[in-house]
Amino acid sequence: MKLDTSHMRYLTPEDFKVLQAVEQGSTNHEVVPTSLIHQLSGLRSLSGTNRSISDLAKLKLIAKLRNAKYDGYKMTYNGIDYLALKTMLNRETVYSVGGTIGVGKESDIYRVSDRNGTEKVMKIHRLGRTSFHTVKNKRDYIKKNAKNGVNWMYLSKIAAGKEYQFMTLLFAKGFDVPEAFDCSRHCIVMELIKGYPMRRLRKHKNIPKLYSDLMSFIVKLGNSGLIHCDFNEFNIMIKDKVEDENDPGFVVIDFPQCISIQHNDAEFYFKRDVDCIRRFFKKKLKYEPKSDSTMLDTDGFGDGYKYPYPLFERDIHREDNLDELLQASGFSKKHPGDRDIEEAIDAMRNNISYDSEEDVASGDEVNSEDGDSDGEYYYSESDEEDSEGESEDSLEEENERIIEAL
Ligand code: ADP
Ligand code: MG
Repeated sequence: MKLDTSHMRYLTPEDFKVLQAVEQGSTNHEVVPTSLIHQLSGLRSLSGTNRSISDLAKLKLIAKLRNAKYDGYKMTYNGIDYLALKTMLNRETVYSVGGTIGVGKESDIYRVSDRNGTEKVMKIHRLGRTSFHTVKNKRDYIKKNAKNGVNWMYLSKIAAGKEYQFMTLLFAKGFDVPEAFDCSRHCIVMELIKGYPMRRLRKHKNIPKLYSDLMSFIVKLGNSGLIHCDFNEFNIMIKDKVEDENDPGFVVIDFPQCISIQHNDAEFYFKRDVDCIRRFFKKKLKYEPKSDSTMLDTDGFGDGYKYPYPLFERDIHREDNLDELLQASGFSKKHPGDRDIEEAIDAMRNNISYDSEEDVASGDEVNSEDGDSDGEYYYSESDEEDSEGESEDSLEEENERIIEAL
């Protein structure tokens, strides 16, 4: 889906209030009744609200839904893109939006710049866009959602918030990840890595060292309490320029599906990450590590990983508890997370997806009379805080608190 910013300058402050009202109402209504939109917008005249509603619908920032009980509106991805971008423009973390860098499975990546002209990356999470019809998941979660519909927009916000927190904290801890600058709703603004995904790498001046440094990353991450779960040649950026001898020359991206080492399947995902790298090096770079001694000291710094490949049982000895600080998935024994969120992120880890809500996302009018929804509570009221404007401040505050505690 394109990020269409052309209409931004035509929207009035009233339109903006009405759009925010739809967003706010969506927290606990799948279809936000017009009367509630009017009430939440704070506008005096109902006709003013109706005019804005009609303009927003024309621009496909909201979509009309007919419901068995009442008519109302729903946010579209265009609408939420607009609100996120507007927030970041106001905070001056973004000044202008450029072209697309990439389209991921469940994200769009754009080049943006700040006021000084520094280029950055904006990642827009779009969960639920892809449909893997071939993958069947028989768990009751799917059955439930096949009936009720999944609030992908809400889950995209959660995924972005999680990714932003993982990146902020890992960066503060000195991990080679992009610096994250801002997060609003389902969007993250981060450092642009000048380089290319490792899948394109065929030549390197020190392949054993690169291999060893990647394994060190996995082990260090594990000892901090986390497993990446999608650690592969697509999510490792090889830098064009190496800064100094301590720079391993790569940056790891794509964190929303990270889990805790306390997760029930931690060992499985840890091994899968290790095997992905091993397979890539063997197949594409014709490199297969043979012995311990070559690993540790390939460059004389002795900072690499000493075994040909890490083992969860042998090598992961918790030194840090980032998983607990961040309430990573799987760290839910003591703090049970929202089941929908856990399941959606689980699906991301396993490339499972369901029918998307493309019809709504594209802003077309949708008829939901067929029992897809009853327009009542969509997810629990306790989630409400998470989706409102204030959650962004609390995310910032929480990050600051965590970083200060380090
Ligand atoms: P997805 O979750 O959809 O896989 P990613 O975060 O992996 O999204 O990003 C998709 C692609 O966009 C990456 O493979 C990479 O080419 C590019 N990309 C993402 N983040 C950055 C960044 N910070 N700097 C440069 N390129 C990036
Ligand atoms: Mg990726």
